[in-house]
Amino acid sequence: EGAGMDVEADDLGNEGMQAKIKEVIAGGISSTMRAFATPRPIVVRLAEGCRVWDVEDNELIDFNMGYGPHIFGYADADVLDGVADQFRRGHLTGMPHELDLEAGRLITTLVPSIEQVKFASSGTEAIAAALRLARAATGRTVVLTFEGHYHGWSETIHREGKLGLLRQGHRSTELRPGALGMIPEALHHTLQIPWNDPEALDEVFARAGDSIAAVIMEPVMANASVVVPVDGYLERVRQVTRAHGAWLIFDEVITGFRVDIGGAQRLFGVRPDLTILSKVLGGGLPVAAFGGSREAMALLARNEATHAGVYAGNHAAIRAVVETLRKISRNPGIYDDLETKGQRVETGLGKAFADSGRHVHLQRVGSLLSVALLTEPVGPGATMRELIAAIDFEGHRRVQMAAQRAGVYYHPNPLEPWFVSTAHSDEDIDAAMTVIRAAITELAD
Ligand code: PLP
Repeated sequence: EGAGMDVEADDLGNEGMQAKIKEVIAGGISSTMRAFATPRPIVVRLAEGCRVWDVEDNELIDFNMGYGPHIFGYADADVLDGVADQFRRGHLTGMPHELDLEAGRLITTLVPSIEQVKFASSGTEAIAAALRLARAATGRTVVLTFEGHYHGWSETIHREGKLGLLRQGHRSTELRPGALGMIPEALHHTLQIPWNDPEALDEVFARAGDSIAAVIMEPVMANASVVVPVDGYLERVRQVTRAHGAWLIFDEVITGFRVDIGGAQRLFGVRPDLTILSKVLGGGLPVAAFGGSREAMALLARNEATHAGVYAGNHAAIRAVVETLRKISRNPGIYDDLETKGQRVETGLGKAFADSGRHVHLQRVGSLLSVALLTEPVGPGATMRELIAAIDFEGHRRVQMAAQRAGVYYHPNPLEPWFVSTAHSDEDIDAAMTVIRAAITELAD
């Protein structure tokens, strides 16, 4: 059954429906970043567990999972019941709510560096607020970030992405705006260097360290395939930022409550000054949070710095946070389960590609992983540029389209991560691997 729409979705099918949607929704989807996710059209009718169903009633096992929020799968009964109950109780009053206490306590208990938070409605928004706070508190303007890391689309951080970077072949220090319409000077206070490169870090701090307000990074990089920090790198960043009075900001939008119950900062034992959380935090409701020590949050606590929003901390979003984090706190064993499931996917993919004689690049932290079909093998220490140069984007896309036709969805861009949830059973994973194995075989035809 459809959601009671007054249009003939069944007759149109995915392709026809997508065309009709494009007439009324610019680009056919409400995020430009997601506009290229379905080269083979899919229009969703239902999502439950690890599956989505399209308007043709095709069933797909999903490894994109809404880009990462659904650690318990789609329509998880606990989160769902809580949020539905909250809507009945009033989901937005604009006043403090009794749920704020539990939500705040859960976050500050689970995430090592956070003593105080503020809620926002998207990762982009929370990051923009965090950067502004760091600039206000340090009295400096420069923000240092890294090739391939994505921190949303706000004015001083949205720069041309990794593919554009390579296409142009220019040095990463020459930042270009990431979108039409940005003011030309938008990135004049933003620096970028390669990540996982201690020498580049030392060099930029020697040159500009005393003007750097903050360094922002994904502590496990997950927006240009998954890349784990090299040994000692996060510690070195922590040390050099402290030495120069710059703040360290971990964008844990993806990694928070995903790679570990306390995020990447707990997994690697490095405490940033500010942390951004979203995705798993709210089980798919539009919610994000940023926070740090009481000292770091002092300007906001005194209401001298500003973060605002009618929907910031609305009670439905906070209920979703409470239900999700309660469930995680009560079941910390899920991270062992997710590790096992992630390993099963990684092993399955590795075998499927190897058995067909294809080179593949696989990286994983728990239930967060990436896989990329390659034209030639790359070494384990390959840089992002070397990896991207070796990826067979077209082949990867063809395998994805064949897999989608046979009932498995993952993002067609090999730089986008896969997300495994507790709702993916061993049988689901094995069934998906059988489909992908067949899809790789089709590539030879
Ligand atoms: N930071 C990271 C690491 C992300 O992956 C994303 C989105 O995927 C964002 C920030 C932006 O979050 P949002 O899309 O909620 O604005």
